[in-house]
Amino acid sequence: MERDPVCGMQVDPKSAAGSIEHNGKTYYFCSAGCQRQFEADPAKFTG
Ligand SMILES: [Zn+2]
Repeated sequence: MERDPVCGMQVDPKSAAGSIEHNGKTYYFCSAGCQRQFEADPAKFTG
């Protein structure tokens, strides 16, 4: 399982709503909404 960086939910990569590669790491999202929030401001969620 991977952690959705936006909402903190545990996400199964095989059933994730989306994923993004950012700075060499792949992030998985529970929903398209979380993915959009991440895309809008990745630094906010990656520290
Ligand atoms: Zn989420």
